[in-house]
Amino acid sequence: MEHRDIVIVGAGLLGCFAARALSAYELDLTVLEAREDVCTGVSRANTGIIYAGYDTRPGTLKTRLCVEGSRSMPALCRELDVPFSRCGSIMVACGPRAEDVLRRKYADGLENGVEGLHLLRGSEVLDLEPNLSGRVCAGLYAPGAGTLDPWSLGIAAYENARANGAEFRFGAAVRAIRREGGAFVLASDAGCFRADAVLNCAGLAADRVRELCEPPLLRLFPSAADYLVLDDTARGFVRHVIFHEPEEKGKGLTLVPTVDGNLLVGPTERDRDGAPGATDAAGLAQLRALCAQVVPSLDLGQTIRSFGADRPNPYYVREENGVWLPEARGISSFTVLEERGLVSLIGIKTPGLTSAKALGDYAAEKLLARLGGRPAKARFDPCRRAIPDPRRMSEAERAALTATQPSYGRIVCRCRGVTEGEVLEAIRRGAVTIDGVKRRTGAGMGRCQSGFCMQRVLELLARERNVPAVSVCKDGPGSEVLRGTL
Ligand SMILES: Cc1cc2nc3c(=O)[nH]c(=O)nc-3n(C[C@H](O)[C@H](O)[C@H](O)COP(=O)(O)OP(=O)(O)OC[C@H]3O[C@@H](n4cnc5c(N)ncnc54)[C@H](O)[C@@H]3O)c2cc1C
Repeated sequence: MEHRDIVIVGAGLLGCFAARALSAYELDLTVLEAREDVCTGVSRANTGIIYAGYDTRPGTLKTRLCVEGSRSMPALCRELDVPFSRCGSIMVACGPRAEDVLRRKYADGLENGVEGLHLLRGSEVLDLEPNLSGRVCAGLYAPGAGTLDPWSLGIAAYENARANGAEFRFGAAVRAIRREGGAFVLASDAGCFRADAVLNCAGLAADRVRELCEPPLLRLFPSAADYLVLDDTARGFVRHVIFHEPEEKGKGLTLVPTVDGNLLVGPTERDRDGAPGATDAAGLAQLRALCAQVVPSLDLGQTIRSFGADRPNPYYVREENGVWLPEARGISSFTVLEERGLVSLIGIKTPGLTSAKALGDYAAEKLLARLGGRPAKARFDPCRRAIPDPRRMSEAERAALTATQPSYGRIVCRCRGVTEGEVLEAIRRGAVTIDGVKRRTGAGMGRCQSGFCMQRVLELLARERNVPAVSVCKDGPGSEVLRGTL
């Protein structure tokens, strides 16, 4: 059996950032991830907003970590070479009830220490965002909010943690955990590990992973969300993240001008009745109806994709006739349980992306304390460089790159202008599926949604990984693209 100081279960945003924080210390650390890659769960299907911090209750851990995360995001993205757009957000109201909500959030924001917040009149909102409905009567402007590709941040944290000595094992679902002496024994699909402390960052399965060695206390009752992605022809339709606070109770519309130039519309909030991550016709219809109210001139014919997401809603539970039932009230702050060396992050929803580094640091501190502290590594390097992107280079830089590496001159994805060199580098850095390449390079994210480049990416994956083309998956086991050869 292999021994580690710390084992982290799950390589989503939180597992990757905790690994990065811990990789700054002299210790043996392994991350066990059930899937074939990082950030395939909640961390890849979310809204990608960096919140300013006025949305959460003053005085909570969630608020503290969100405000801290939001403030430090520009510096973090510079360290990790991740594109970040600090475009600011405007929460808009179309009536008196919503206007009241804005005023409450403004007051909360001031108490939370959010900088630059101010209330706007309807006409001021429309000056900033002329494509919003003329019914908008007030706005709450937060200049510190922004947006990024959530998976880019997680992948960057993963690469940086790995470069600093953290080990990641994929296809390593943890099936059993037992306490032995003061330590833990974990049985996974990648073998058995003995660890002095365990961090459970298993996302939608964090409750079940905890229950591998603790009695039930809280469980996740997921709800679903639907999104629409509009082509980059919608670039500039709105310039800020727009939150629409509806006049009636319920979820309003969110519009995000993404760093890639698309417009993200959503999410809805509804019961999950289909497969995890599935969209729902009624949910998508609800989005269209909200758009007609809030942005009536938006041409939804520009939609190039829809996708679904799952919210890991945590509830304390009680047993009734052998069934675990949720208590009436959900949990609104971040839940970090610490149980004799097992630290569990359970039901971390919004703003978990904004707070990912702060939460990772927070969990790392608890684990280090459990180990009695460890010396900092003399050679820890917090910086990581992204895959070279010829689209962001000058002509002279591009010419220099293609002179030494001609693959950076061969276009694979025509919609996004992604080159073969980028795809090869993504594979070298750990992409094993077509979606893994997509998340690292953007190949397949454009208008044709990989209609033209999927076959080329598939060939490159098969060739570089030396595996049969029929075994290449779009997104994890069971999603093989080819049925056989002719
Ligand atoms: C709809 C939605 C929208 C959101 N929008 C925003 C936003 O705009 N801004 C913001 O700040 N936050 C947002 N969030 C929150 C943010 O996305 C999450 O807090 C964050 O992604 C959680 O990451 P995670 O690492 O906990 O989970 P995940 O990314 O799901 O990672 C968990 C990992 O654990 C692995 N795993 C599970 N079981 C096992 C096992 N037994 N063994 C090994 N591995 C296992 C899974 O395969 C997975 O890779 C949103 C969340 C949702 C649901």
